[in-house]
Amino acid sequence: MAIVAVTVAVYFLYGALRADAAFPGLSGPATHSLVQAPVPANWQDYDTGGSGRLAILLTDPDSAWLGLVQGLKSIGVPFRITRDWRQALRHRVVLVYPTISGKVLDGDALKALVDFPASGGTLIGTHVEGGGLNLVFGFRDIQPSRERRSMNFDTQQRLAQAFDDPHERTIPYSNPAQGALAMGSLGYIGADGVLARFDDGSAAITARQVGAGHAYALGLDPGFLFLTGYNNREQGVSRSYVNGYEPIIDVWLRLLKAMYRQGEPTAVTLDTVPQGKDLAVVLTHDIDYGSSLKNAADYARYEASQGLRATYFIQTKYVRDWNDDIFFDQSSQKSLQALGDLHMEVGSHSVAHSRTFNRMSLGTGDEQYPGYHPFVRSKDVTENASILGELRVSRFLIEHLLPGQHLASFRPGHLRSPYALPQALEATGYRYSSSVTANNSLTHLPFQLTYGREATALSGVFEFPVTIEDEEEPRLGDRLQPALALADQLSRYGGMMVVLIHPNILDHKLDFEQRLVSALRTRAWFGALDQLGDFWSARDRLAVDVAPEGTRLRLTVKAPSALSGLSLQLPAGYHLAATDRPELEVSTPPGKLVLGRIEGSISLTLEK
Ligand SMILES: [Zn+2]
Repeated sequence: MAIVAVTVAVYFLYGALRADAAFPGLSGPATHSLVQAPVPANWQDYDTGGSGRLAILLTDPDSAWLGLVQGLKSIGVPFRITRDWRQALRHRVVLVYPTISGKVLDGDALKALVDFPASGGTLIGTHVEGGGLNLVFGFRDIQPSRERRSMNFDTQQRLAQAFDDPHERTIPYSNPAQGALAMGSLGYIGADGVLARFDDGSAAITARQVGAGHAYALGLDPGFLFLTGYNNREQGVSRSYVNGYEPIIDVWLRLLKAMYRQGEPTAVTLDTVPQGKDLAVVLTHDIDYGSSLKNAADYARYEASQGLRATYFIQTKYVRDWNDDIFFDQSSQKSLQALGDLHMEVGSHSVAHSRTFNRMSLGTGDEQYPGYHPFVRSKDVTENASILGELRVSRFLIEHLLPGQHLASFRPGHLRSPYALPQALEATGYRYSSSVTANNSLTHLPFQLTYGREATALSGVFEFPVTIEDEEEPRLGDRLQPALALADQLSRYGGMMVVLIHPNILDHKLDFEQRLVSALRTRAWFGALDQLGDFWSARDRLAVDVAPEGTRLRLTVKAPSALSGLSLQLPAGYHLAATDRPELEVSTPPGKLVLGRIEGSISLTLEK
């Protein structure tokens, strides 16, 4: 026993010495990382803005409305949440959420909603359970169920015409094998007009023109569906893991945007890609292997030669373990500096690159190099590691080698994402995460993360999920055509393509990158994650309102944080007539307005 104990002690002492040897005399970080308690989101915070916005008439605050907030912000539809039906009916487009019935709305409210479409309004009802509204929506009966799995759009219908890809036409959303946890839905029976049907034939979305207005009944809760995707709890409805098209949430968002733009003739919506482009491409590289840091310079030189910035996620591997030998120490400074000199973004890829990161404990927030000594013993066992340790110690070491830099972005090894990651990232100063796949998130757009990947509190961190990676077969160099086909699908609605290439080799991987860049260079926006993150988080804070002014429209854009390259989709037939900022750079591609750097409140005048 004694011999075993001594051997173990020597082994750990050796490891500790080696860890210390990577950066002699260095220790830190000195400051504590504090994980804040969640601050529950409050619907009243969204009860602002003009009557040109989409109104959400919230009939039950104890619902998945936060998912709607995340989704509508992501697709760029301005909205206001209210519980006052009179306020809601001052808007031209009203989404009643999460349910319409006599239990949640009184007789006056129900009558006013019934009359709304005939007066030119657009009424979108979620889970229309009763209240005598079936006539206005045009159905006979309802059929609740947890057995349905998917819905199918009728692409002959105007609002569904855009969904002509098979992955858009059919939208899976629930896994009945989950039993009581499967997503419930309401099928509408005997509907006059049907935009989409469930797999059992009942209507999933009814559509009816009423005079100059429209009435749509939704048979499933889009807020709940969005939260399911954003929180990575998709329960097996995604049709692929990565490298494929999975637009379940995006189709719903495009549909809601189309309903809004159809019903509100002064609608101004925010595009998702900077500079008015139709696709955002983020090139990223994970450095989690000995020679990768050296190869990274070749990728970076090529990217810089094209005037591009990419993101390099670096594993700060200072402990020898089952995974690999030490490859991050004082001598890594030259390689890191080379990336910095080429203006690349450097992010963290954790310390241990553990497959059990998603199961680690949160940690104390006081983990420090060199005492923090995570040890990967096997595929399934990592010792002495914590979420906060992985985040704060890796940041500390990279910033030690790159003085003056403050890391913004993180990606875990093997995309293992613990539930506490959003709040742990926030506590350790990260703002942007690329920790999941787009397919598992059911979206090809960025989104704001929630605390604990749950439904009640937002986190300050935004997620940019991975679209293309280099580990599935066939090898990356043989996958250019499918990648470009995916780029075409995403371009139709301003999707994002985050490309992950490990620089463990050059060969077919660098070749893939070069051919991808040449094919997309002119039509897509390219940037590092911190650039798209800065744009996206500033865009998230924007308030956009439109008010009529005689025959013209006054468009007000309030930007609490500066951003450049915001693209706005204008109301049909309108163009820019004037602005209150003569120095503002503006370009006007057809139907759009692309703004240079903005900050504060800006007023623009639109005319036909
Ligand atoms: Zn990795």
